[in-house]
Amino acid sequence: MNQNWHGTLIRHMLLLVTGCLLVGLISGYYGWSLAIGLGLYLGWTLKQLLRLHEWLRQHKPDEAPPDGYGLWGEVFDSIYHLQRRDQRVRGRLQAVIDRVQESTAALKDAVIMLDSDGNLEWWNRAAETLLGLKTPQDSGQPVTNLVRHPRFKEYFEQDNYEEALEIPSPTNDRVRIQLYLTRYGNNEHLMLVRDVTRIHQLEQMRKDFVANVSHELRTPLTVICGYLETLLDNVEEVNPRWSRALQQMQQQGSRMQTLLNDLLLLAKLEATDYPSDNHPVAVQSLLQTIKNDAQALSGERGQYITLEADPSVLLKGSEGELRSAFSNLVFNAVKYTQDTGTIRIRWWADQHGAHLSVQDSGIGIDSKHLPRLTERFYRVDSSRNSNTGGTGLGLAIVKHVLLRHRARLEISSVLGHGSTFTCHFAPAQVSRSPAIAAKD
Ligand code: ADP
Repeated sequence: MNQNWHGTLIRHMLLLVTGCLLVGLISGYYGWSLAIGLGLYLGWTLKQLLRLHEWLRQHKPDEAPPDGYGLWGEVFDSIYHLQRRDQRVRGRLQAVIDRVQESTAALKDAVIMLDSDGNLEWWNRAAETLLGLKTPQDSGQPVTNLVRHPRFKEYFEQDNYEEALEIPSPTNDRVRIQLYLTRYGNNEHLMLVRDVTRIHQLEQMRKDFVANVSHELRTPLTVICGYLETLLDNVEEVNPRWSRALQQMQQQGSRMQTLLNDLLLLAKLEATDYPSDNHPVAVQSLLQTIKNDAQALSGERGQYITLEADPSVLLKGSEGELRSAFSNLVFNAVKYTQDTGTIRIRWWADQHGAHLSVQDSGIGIDSKHLPRLTERFYRVDSSRNSNTGGTGLGLAIVKHVLLRHRARLEISSVLGHGSTFTCHFAPAQVSRSPAIAAKD
């Protein structure tokens, strides 16, 4: 096609020049006739160019191009076809976008697109009901201004969105929503929000049931254990055949009491998101008492327990809850370490926050159990567990306490070679004691 037009153009030019030369031959003015001929051709070309420019500037969609002669006609038609093709492609793309928007608008879950600074770019209709976003006023607003729950701000600012966040809906306290964030493209965020009120209610019923049963069982059990203790105090008056049975009954009774206490503690921890206390806790002295208790628990087993703690590092939170969590870790180390084994407790702070590690040279845990270890009643070996008197709730309590103190638990262990449980606390939870730091 190009080649054709090449030839045609050359032919036209040759024809023009020949015509001009002929006129020149007749008139005797070669130069003038050639100049006038080429001038006329240039004028005609400029006129076509102006027509094209005018058409491109003013034409309405689907308006046919002006008629053109020769190559100019071809240029007009090609531009017109290109425009038509472009319109068709745009139409098809618009149809796809409309369909995607219609289907996301029909979703019950909210879909929100945020730019790299966390400002709202686009959202579907469900986002208006679940998060109370207003179209179009909220467009371009930072999402943290519209979802003001403190946990959301923390969740949004962190790097790791592996787990979803559950909070009450900003529009209605009784509606629970679950948020998932994903990064895509150029650090933009996609946020999915689900209404999980029903699942939350069922979960709440389960928690209430466990808490109520534990509470109701506590009083009768206290009475039974009290009588058993009285009977055992006066064991000489009891028929000797019953003495062993009474001892076993008391042992199991106190196990049940520990279990109920742990269940009630878990229920209390689950009831709120944060501890009511947020005072700086002197972790070093707390660990010192836990170490003494661990030494007493270890008794004659000859275990070597060491504590290295930085006294200037304090931790904001509830002393009672932290005591439960830390003592669970240390007592586990005592329980699951053979006689004459070593247990090392360390407490220190660095730029990533504060850390507590409890390292033992005990029996260790197979790596397949590690992901499930903090589940309630999860036991690596149930037969072994009944010997140690554990409830299977210790690590679940640790996990909950840490969650409430913006911390996470890291477990590393090699079967037969010991385990290390490390709690990592966020820098916001750490406070330094100026008096002790100055002394150092
Ligand atoms: P329990 O009350 O049974 O100790 P936990 O929740 O505290 O329950 O621990 C769950 C399980 O994790 C335990 O049954 C035990 O098998 C394992 N475990 C916990 N700590 C250690 C440890 N330091 N060394 C080896 N195994 C451990």
